[in-house]
Amino acid sequence: MPPVLAGLIGAVTMLALVLLVVAVRRGLALRRQLSGPRPGSVTPPDLGAAIDFSASGAMIVGSHDEVLKVNELGQAMSLARGSRVGFKELLELVRRVRNSGEPFVGRLQREREPGREATELSGRVFPVSDGIIMVLAEDESASRRVDAVRRDFVANVSHELKTPIGAIAILAEAIEAASDDQTEVTRFVERLQRETARLAELVNQIIDLSRLQSSDPLLSRTVVEVDEIVDEALARSRESAAKRSVSVIRAKSVPSRVVGDRWQLADAVTNLVQNAISYSGEKARVVVTAAPVSEDGEDFVDIKVADNGIGIPLEEQERIFERFYRVDYGRSRDSGGTGLGLSIVRHIAGAHGGEVKVWSRPHQGSTFTLRLPAFLGEALPDEPDDESEGD
Ligand code: ADP
Repeated sequence: MPPVLAGLIGAVTMLALVLLVVAVRRGLALRRQLSGPRPGSVTPPDLGAAIDFSASGAMIVGSHDEVLKVNELGQAMSLARGSRVGFKELLELVRRVRNSGEPFVGRLQREREPGREATELSGRVFPVSDGIIMVLAEDESASRRVDAVRRDFVANVSHELKTPIGAIAILAEAIEAASDDQTEVTRFVERLQRETARLAELVNQIIDLSRLQSSDPLLSRTVVEVDEIVDEALARSRESAAKRSVSVIRAKSVPSRVVGDRWQLADAVTNLVQNAISYSGEKARVVVTAAPVSEDGEDFVDIKVADNGIGIPLEEQERIFERFYRVDYGRSRDSGGTGLGLSIVRHIAGAHGGEVKVWSRPHQGSTFTLRLPAFLGEALPDEPDDESEGD
């Protein structure tokens, strides 16, 4: 064969091969296009990357019940235990979905096991392809816990309200029955006034607490001089201090400023000062200081309220910040307490980016420290200019 012809045949063969490969590829692509994406036909490697970004707990289970992939949230929900499905009920569900091909939407409940809490998840379990199953889950236990706390609060509030309301009803009857006896009437009326004041205080504190537990707890946000907060709290406490002959001393403080709601902050300090007065003996001393402090490169203002009163046992010191918790119910009631004061202080501190701590020893006294982030700037950009307003 002449070399030119041989070369020509070779070139044509090569071209035919290339065309064949192109045609096969096109044909395959066309077939894929025509058949269209089947539901759930996404390949597991794609899914694997997707579940890392899922805001739900997510897990892919292979056709032999082996866990192919689980994201961090899924792990936190115990969807998987190593390479196995995390709990019996979920494994049964995965198998059922695989056998029936029917997706599942509903609750996934894991029974309590030794060393593990019961969990309630809401989830979706559906087939992906070739026996592979996808599990998506949301943890409902947290929202149920919030519900439980709310129910608990409502139950406590109802109970706490019933006491003064019941007392008021009884006192009203007693006044009617003793209408001829002026001394008795006066005595009952005084008690009636005390119970009414308690009821008003309780209702106000419940409203404050509800507000503080909302998503937007601060009533206003301005630059506040700490001295003004302390002055306000001391002015509000003067009467009760005088009644118990307690001297409230204001230690010399360094001027400092914080950002927040001045009335809420004054409420917080007032609660601490009132407690210091109530839980101290007659003629006791309460010292209030405010000073800037730096810790780990951050600037704070510490407002300290120290008393030499009855003190708080160590094991009670965390619980006193819970709503309605009192170390000594009788004493709290006698001093007009509601059990909500410190819970309010903690919420106010938190809403201002701060915290409240206690140091205390029984029979020695207590020091409560309200720590707030210090404001070192000039003025807030959106703060109204008081001086120009006055012009
Ligand atoms: P209350 O209205 O009963 O004072 P609080 O929430 O303010 O409620 O305080 C909870 C409990 O903490 C009080 O009942 C009291 O037992 C204890 N407590 C608070 N402050 C002091 C204090 N300065 N000294 C001793 N005990 C205190």
